[in-house]
Amino acid sequence: MELERDIVKLEVFWEDSAQTPPEWIKKIEDKVSFIELVDSTVVLYIRIADLKTFLKIKIPIREISDVNIKNLFLLSQIFQKIPIGVLIFKQQVVYANAFIEKIFEKPYVEIVDSPAKDFLPEEIIRNIQKLFSKESIERELVLKWIGSFDLLSGNKRHLLIIATSTFIDEIPFGIALFFDISREKNFLTEMVDLHSYDSITGLPNLKSALEFIENLRKNGKRFLVGLVDIDNFSLINDSFGIETGDKVLREFVERLRKSFNPNYYQLFRTVSDQFLIISLRETDRMKEIKYIVNKIKKLLEIPFKVDGSEIFLSVNFGFSFYPEHGDSVLTKAEIALKHAREEKLSYAVYSLDLEFSRETIEILSNIKEDIKNDRIEVFFQPKVDLNSGKILGAEALMRSSVPPNKAIPVIIRYGLMFDVGRIILRKSLENLKQWLENGHDISVAVNVSISQLLDNRFFPLVRRTIEKLRIPPEKLILEVTESEATVNSNNLFSTIKALVEYGVKISIDDFGTGYSSLSRLKMIKAHELKIDLSFIKNVPESEEDKSIVKFIVDISKLLKMTSVAEGIERKEQIEFLRKIGCNEGQGYFFSPPVPAKEFERLLEKEVFAI
Ligand code: C2E
Ligand code: MG
Ligand code: MG
Repeated sequence: MELERDIVKLEVFWEDSAQTPPEWIKKIEDKVSFIELVDSTVVLYIRIADLKTFLKIKIPIREISDVNIKNLFLLSQIFQKIPIGVLIFKQQVVYANAFIEKIFEKPYVEIVDSPAKDFLPEEIIRNIQKLFSKESIERELVLKWIGSFDLLSGNKRHLLIIATSTFIDEIPFGIALFFDISREKNFLTEMVDLHSYDSITGLPNLKSALEFIENLRKNGKRFLVGLVDIDNFSLINDSFGIETGDKVLREFVERLRKSFNPNYYQLFRTVSDQFLIISLRETDRMKEIKYIVNKIKKLLEIPFKVDGSEIFLSVNFGFSFYPEHGDSVLTKAEIALKHAREEKLSYAVYSLDLEFSRETIEILSNIKEDIKNDRIEVFFQPKVDLNSGKILGAEALMRSSVPPNKAIPVIIRYGLMFDVGRIILRKSLENLKQWLENGHDISVAVNVSISQLLDNRFFPLVRRTIEKLRIPPEKLILEVTESEATVNSNNLFSTIKALVEYGVKISIDDFGTGYSSLSRLKMIKAHELKIDLSFIKNVPESEEDKSIVKFIVDISKLLKMTSVAEGIERKEQIEFLRKIGCNEGQGYFFSPPVPAKEFERLLEKEVFAI
């Protein structure tokens, strides 16, 4: 069967049908999914959970140029792997993923074709006709439900179900997502925030709070934000059950409502056991805080009576003020709250120092010492031609008294990246000049962060350094991580453009971890893609990682870019990479990053045996 749908071509094959299987079925073999690039079409092969239905989806590249390539790949796997149940249904269930099997403790064959009502709660079933109406689909109606299911085995499932509907070839289908909330209650309450009110307490929710705050700001209002967090609320849920927990919350909110005058105070439920109180009273800040804290503490002196038990609650508070603390007052109240909890204080008020942990302060002082004493060093790791074993270049990696992954975020945050970057660039290029003069025709790749690229002093600095040392610009490669390279900023883009026009090469680092689109890659005119080491790690054992790596190599061929595999540690990885046509490799297999002197010795040796 073949369906032509606008731009995307879909072929479906059922193993049970009398047809002989088409050739493409072989591609899937024993995998769940597989993706390949044929000419300029992305072809996605998917095996549905019953292992009997196969899909082949063809999407022309030009149509997906703005779609995140990796997501497309992941999409095919996600359904099978996510800890969220996916159920597609009409009156009967037509598809269920692996997690549904787990939730209901039933094999796929017993789920598919069974009446949908066996898996959905009353409330949703009652609304099913509504869900399937054209109007609801167009309005993107979403039903949600929280509650428990009793399984035949005696097990109980606390579930959040979100149901919606869509047309597939003009036939309405229902889609329900099942979240098992027995554990991840907090996360889930956030997910429920699709609407403005919290269904348990009737209070406006986080979304409403954000809108409310935005409005106050727009109108130039002065206000105080207090987050109220109930201690160990999950204990109550665990020991008395979620229903009891909900009753306690409702009672708590009832008490709050009675105590705070709605003309001055607005209440919200932000996440599960957290409430927000916004005060518009024009009193002294500290007085107001004491007033709120004492009032709520008083409310909690009286126990909550549920099912014959008496429950006492205790709370922590985090406060922030507008306009004194600037924007994102809610985040700031959260920081204060976190501090109160960690330091076991009843409440805390936001201040700038709360944002800086002891570790950060220590890193910063180490880095400053390193800069002062010229201890910012550069190590070099060879980039090797996977066919000849020849060293084609080096990646320059910063070394200081703090490991780069910890140092760089702090360096950026404290505005030191430009200066540190200048040292790294200079040291890298000085070494490169030496090597070029010694007759080694290699390039050096220097990592740059987005904060450097956004700085309008950066391009002139690069040009000045290159000119001073008289190095051909194309011998310098600047590595930008994929997630930063795809940030939508004119400044960023114009710096990259200027660099490329000047002749410097751009490499997209950690490719596969960000959100590139092909059009974006083309626009940047990057010259190289570096496949993130997380994908190389389990090659060739993991079929899935193998196809991701092959896919990235195919993309780089399509865009006429060089592909570089990071993190090669084993011979088998090289064999696979060569087979699929990956150009270059880097990793401990060849050499760890080493000081310049040692790198020179590797250069003299010239070729690696591979
Ligand atoms: P990156 O640019 O992706 O660099 C590759 C990282 O992988 C390096 O870690 C390298 O030591 C490590 N590596 C190399 N071969 C192997 C291998 O076979 N196996 C494993 N497991 N790891 C391998 P490093 O030096 O700790 O740097 C971490 C990250 O810090 C870099 O990732 C880069 O994003 C950043 N960084 C390093 N130096 C600089 C710099 O001068 N400027 C900027 N902006 N960022 C830098
Ligand atoms: Mg790098
Ligand atoms: Mg990398």
